[in-house]
Amino acid sequence: MNPTKRKQSGAIGTVIIFCIAVVCAGALWIYFDEDVARKLKQEAEIQSMAVIGDVATKRLASASGEGTHGAAVDLIKRPIEVREVAENIHYATGVGNTIMITTSEGVVLFDTGLVIQSANQLQILKDTVSDADVRYIILSHSHADHIGGTRFWMDEGTDIIAHQNFEEEQRYLSELQPYQYDRNRTLFPWMPAWEDRPDIALMRYGGIVPTITVDDWETYAFTLGGIEFQVIGAPGAEGADNAVLWLPQQKVLISGDFFGPQFPQFPNIFTMRGEKVRKPVEYIKSLDRLIALNPDVILPSHLDPTIGAEKIRKGMQRIRDAVQYVHDETIAGMNAGKTVNQLMKEIKLPPNLELVQNHGRVDWAVKSIWEYYMGWFRFESTTELYPIPAQDVYADLAQIAGNENLIALANNYLIQGEPVKTLHITEIALAGDPQNSSALALRDQALVELLERAENGLRNDYEIYWLKSQLDTAL
Ligand SMILES: [Zn+2]
Repeated sequence: MNPTKRKQSGAIGTVIIFCIAVVCAGALWIYFDEDVARKLKQEAEIQSMAVIGDVATKRLASASGEGTHGAAVDLIKRPIEVREVAENIHYATGVGNTIMITTSEGVVLFDTGLVIQSANQLQILKDTVSDADVRYIILSHSHADHIGGTRFWMDEGTDIIAHQNFEEEQRYLSELQPYQYDRNRTLFPWMPAWEDRPDIALMRYGGIVPTITVDDWETYAFTLGGIEFQVIGAPGAEGADNAVLWLPQQKVLISGDFFGPQFPQFPNIFTMRGEKVRKPVEYIKSLDRLIALNPDVILPSHLDPTIGAEKIRKGMQRIRDAVQYVHDETIAGMNAGKTVNQLMKEIKLPPNLELVQNHGRVDWAVKSIWEYYMGWFRFESTTELYPIPAQDVYADLAQIAGNENLIALANNYLIQGEPVKTLHITEIALAGDPQNSSALALRDQALVELLERAENGLRNDYEIYWLKSQLDTAL
């Protein structure tokens, strides 16, 4: 090659390199521009959500009244703070915790809290723990108190890991939202009415699409910055789409709602709030998987960690055996020809399996296991087959029986310590005469009696919420 040619090709090379550089800079600029725009929009959204969230949280907390341990009303009053579990594991408190695991290659999140609290949780975690890129967001299940901040945390290329059933659960919860909102508001009257709820696009439930999924009892494992992560599909507890995160090097189990807000406690196998069935045998199988991990720490998405391998192992084993016991006793009773109501009355946990029942209840579990296996027709009365409930004849019955007789009977039941029977009779009396003051007074007395028993007995939150809601409408 002569020098001129070399010079020429050198010049062409320079031009090509220059052109490539310009194209790259242009592309970089376009890319940069979009990224900046996305980030600015996201930051503006987070700022506005922090303000809206503060107002909404304060309003809910001030209207929430008395609670019991672990109840929703307690959770809304929790201040948003950062707590450390280990050097690389922190969580922001709230109704639902947002958990952050830091690594040298970015952060991993587990659950993103309730939408009205998520912006504040994000800000405090970014300010005090890490503002590195979010590489993975793991969602324990599709309930609104666990996924609210997902969109605010998303960086370019963030993967969302959830159970394979996550999208289906999110679909049905979205479709039934108005109906479920009403039910929840009956139990939690401090929630704003459906028409008064802050209906802002940013706060709407749903629309999250996982990029990585795990199936039942499957593990999705990855390593980031030298930390091993195992996401395990653990169905049964709060629904068909439960997933937990296991950190094998530190023996920490990040459990979402798998155990409920307290540990240990009898699980809410099938919540009375109303949801799709939860499968008891799946739950037992999931528990077997988790017991085998032998965790030193359980970090849940509500309230605080439980520490100590022995305590955790004993607690998990007791929950497992209690659910198995209630399941097996229900099956045995069904095969022995007992009715669901008989079994609800008879089946009790033996002393060695005793657990608190303020979240889930044994008798409601019996009913839900019965219905899980047998569906809606109990084979007890022909009338079950037709849409004409007993209540349809109450008004006529009341007229024949006469108010005085009904009131006397309702009162007798109350004196005999049978407030539920009192309610049956006052329902009949009130169907005939809705304003009857004696019947109304007896109904209230029966509700007060049941409330006192609940508060001095199992202290089940949902039973207490329900009875209070009925007293509120009664008064
Ligand atoms: Zn929850």
